[in-house]
Amino acid sequence: MKNDRALLEKTGWNLDNSYAGLPKSFFTRLNPTPVSSPNLMILNHPLAKSLGLNVQALQSSEGVAVLAGNEIPEGALPLAQAYAGHQFGHFTILGDGRALLIGEQVTPSGKRFDIQLKGSGKTPYSRGGDGRAALGPMLREYIISEAMHALGIPTTRSLAVVTTGEFVFRENTKPGAILTRVAASHLRVGTFQYVSRWGSVEDLRTLADYTLQRHFPDVDNQNRYLFLLQEVCKRQAMLIAKWQLVGFIHGVMNTDNMAISGETIDYGPCAFMDTYDPATVFSSIDTHGRYAYGKQPDIAAWNLARFADTLLPLLHENQDQAIKLAQEELSNFDNLYHSHWLAGMRAKLGIIDEEAEDKFLIQDLLRMMQKYRADYTNTFRALTLDKPEEMVLYGTTEFAQWHEQWQARLGRQQEAKTSSHPLMKRSNPALIPRNHRVEEALSAAVDHGDYSMMKRLLDVLSNPYSYSPEQADYAAPPKPSVRPYRTFCGT
Ligand code: AMP
Ligand code: MG
Repeated sequence: MKNDRALLEKTGWNLDNSYAGLPKSFFTRLNPTPVSSPNLMILNHPLAKSLGLNVQALQSSEGVAVLAGNEIPEGALPLAQAYAGHQFGHFTILGDGRALLIGEQVTPSGKRFDIQLKGSGKTPYSRGGDGRAALGPMLREYIISEAMHALGIPTTRSLAVVTTGEFVFRENTKPGAILTRVAASHLRVGTFQYVSRWGSVEDLRTLADYTLQRHFPDVDNQNRYLFLLQEVCKRQAMLIAKWQLVGFIHGVMNTDNMAISGETIDYGPCAFMDTYDPATVFSSIDTHGRYAYGKQPDIAAWNLARFADTLLPLLHENQDQAIKLAQEELSNFDNLYHSHWLAGMRAKLGIIDEEAEDKFLIQDLLRMMQKYRADYTNTFRALTLDKPEEMVLYGTTEFAQWHEQWQARLGRQQEAKTSSHPLMKRSNPALIPRNHRVEEALSAAVDHGDYSMMKRLLDVLSNPYSYSPEQADYAAPPKPSVRPYRTFCGT
């Protein structure tokens, strides 16, 4: 036992528990439910190192026991967080039903990250669920979240996936697994909704102050809570613009799946769009297209309005004044989002300065892409590589005219033409995690225990702007017969 303890210490866990110091109604203290036979399937070495963790020690049986929830590292105070949320527009009480916050890892550089085990057993918030997770969806979260990170998009990350040696029962029997999720925090819009509905105003103030301290420490004390709303709106505007620019579709933008930190969180039925179409939906449960690609900015604004609702008692003692302040803030969101999006689109086209007409140039391209069912990523890739002949738009008069206008636009820039190309390379990924590529890697891993395909995929996705020769193969869109692609929540 002495050795085990020493090894645990060698792993480098340096856990703090600031969330556990919040009012008791915010969470339930609970240890993970042990699993019979944990096995480490994948470990994120660079992430482990950046957290101050020792890769070798993590891979040992004692290290894996922690990732499986069979052993609690020293300093951990595992807990399930309570939250609520609007799911497809309907308010409901939720909470970590199959996840536990183990603690907050304080890194050697002094940063703080939540360490959460997802799939760690039942909690008081499990409702009818088994508290467990299947291997496929956990590996999928690993791949997509790491791809998002490499694309430069704020996201929770994935440290490891272990199999449990137990089965979970879904539409059929599947191997069980636990994902270690690393997040700036797991504070959600839904956390505020929970405290606003069931806590006191003092509880709400405590939560808001905690959030400010954790994520926005340079708070302007004029009106701290208006500042909080402002900053959360800013981060979401930036985040959603980044999603749109790479064609990422979250799939379940319920308010409990929107992180206050501005990170992408909760990878369920998410996917990247192939063919450009604002109506694209992948999720099998999103029957009305509430969370379609083109609707994501509006949904973010709607979610932020729910966040603002919760803050009203803190914004002003007079409710009308509070509402006015919140509305003013929320009304900025569209502009904020649009300016990020426009800046990103200009960059994708190599445009460095600004002309008012740029948005028409962009709209024309998108309109053509939709009309000719062009692949979103590969259209920008072909423009970047100056290989228009690789695009489905090529050969049409419309495109020829557009291309001429675009070249003329680039010609009017003060900056040297040579600056456009590197800007486009930095702004247009050569590849995204294509759904069919992700599926084939998952199938090899889950059905055949062969992780080589997944590791190769992770490797090419780790540098999506490099335009390396081996990426070309991964850039191909799916064959038409493989469509339409459907994703499932995978709970
Ligand atoms: P999600 O759709 O993943 O955002 O989850 C919605 C809610 O359902 C959250 O409260 C989850 O913790 C809970 N949940 C999802 N899957 C399970 C499961 N297998 N067992 C218990 N709770 C679950
Ligand atoms: Mg969720």
